[in-house]
Amino acid sequence: MTTQPAVAGGLLETEEQRALRDAVAAFGRRYGRPYFEEALRAGRHTHELWQEAGKLGYLSVSLPEAYGGGGQGITELSVVLEELGAAGSPLLMLIVTPAITGTVIARFGTHAQKRAWLPGLGDGTRKMAFGITEPDAGSNAHRITTTARRDGTDWVLNGRKVFVSGVDISDATLIVSRTEDARTGRLKPCLFVVPRDTPGFSRHLIDMELAAPEKQFELVLDEVRLPADALVGDEDAGLLQLFAGLNPERIMTAAFALGMARFALDRALDYARTRQVWKEPIGAHQAIAHPLAQAHIEIELARLMMRKAAVLYDAGDDTGAGEAANMAKYAAAEACVKAVDQAVHTLGGNGLTREYGLASLVTAARVARIAPVSREMILNYVSHQNLGLPKSY
Ligand SMILES: Cc1cc2nc3c(=O)[nH]c(=O)nc-3n(C[C@H](O)[C@H](O)[C@H](O)COP(=O)(O)OP(=O)(O)OC[C@H]3O[C@@H](n4cnc5c(N)ncnc54)[C@H](O)[C@@H]3O)c2cc1C
Repeated sequence: MTTQPAVAGGLLETEEQRALRDAVAAFGRRYGRPYFEEALRAGRHTHELWQEAGKLGYLSVSLPEAYGGGGQGITELSVVLEELGAAGSPLLMLIVTPAITGTVIARFGTHAQKRAWLPGLGDGTRKMAFGITEPDAGSNAHRITTTARRDGTDWVLNGRKVFVSGVDISDATLIVSRTEDARTGRLKPCLFVVPRDTPGFSRHLIDMELAAPEKQFELVLDEVRLPADALVGDEDAGLLQLFAGLNPERIMTAAFALGMARFALDRALDYARTRQVWKEPIGAHQAIAHPLAQAHIEIELARLMMRKAAVLYDAGDDTGAGEAANMAKYAAAEACVKAVDQAVHTLGGNGLTREYGLASLVTAARVARIAPVSREMILNYVSHQNLGLPKSY
């Protein structure tokens, strides 16, 4: 038995969404944890999973039909990621490629940019990474110093990025920059598609203590020359465009965390039902059962908030979605960290063996607490935006 999500049925999930969930869950189980762990051991990427998901239309559910997509929303894309994670084979790049870069290009790109990128991003043949974080501007995106200067019709970019996921397997990276005249004062971001092999664009692998096929990179942009059409959207409407991508990023990070939480909880439940060291299986002891029940409740609560955020976003309410997406990301990350911790504990010594495969999740679960926006920055946002409390920074 698995932790079947309760957010289902006609009221909260349409029949089509339920069918998508069931189909992706079955697809995910076909690959499952053994496939994912084999890829980790071999130090390779889960390309087969990505490509087949692309062929089946799962990567493109939220992209516009006119460019080969499914014409649905982030709600459906979050279902795909959550179910793959619950099956033990998550695809981190779903957060970056269709949810951030696909959304930004679909909403603000020119027809030529959409035609150039969206079909490939959706069918699994191309990927795009997303770089905003900088060494001196992590939580404070207003401090980014990567600059874009005009040179004739070209743009020339200079700067550094850090922790950017999947640059090695992506055809290009969507780089958040600011125009040179906006270097001081308020953030006026503009977004550029930087192809992987552009001269002056280099990457260095960051040695992360993370069991994941997708790697993180530090990027250097040294006089990176780009044609005028590398700019996505309007040079002067950058913040709006940026947030169009960041809300889906938060919703999808929640889906990533909740998939992992469900996977860990399922492993713990299987173990607690059968492991016997006294008269009854250990799951009969309330000290084991109650924290697992609590984890299930917290997962379900976070799923509801994720659902709210996705529905608001898909309805075009960017402001309402922003608030809900932050809360969903917060709740999902906390639920994930606690579920994984309890799952490892439920297995006793086996929780730390490679054979049972839970220990590596202790580190992986922390990612959603830090990225793309940390727990504290969400608490700051809620304190200021929702509760009207003054700022300390
Ligand atoms: C696995 C992984 C993948 C990532 N992938 C990408 C990617 O693809 N693209 C990308 O651009 N970035 C990516 N990131 C970067 C991620 O978004 C940043 O790590 C995150 O935004 C936090 O920034 P920082 O690491 O610089 O932490 P800092 O900003 O240095 O924060 C450090 C600590 O201080 C706290 N803190 C900071 N300011 C305040 C404040 N005002 N009040 C209270 N507490 C505060 C934070 O909450 C945190 O706990 C990734 C990170 C990880 C770990």
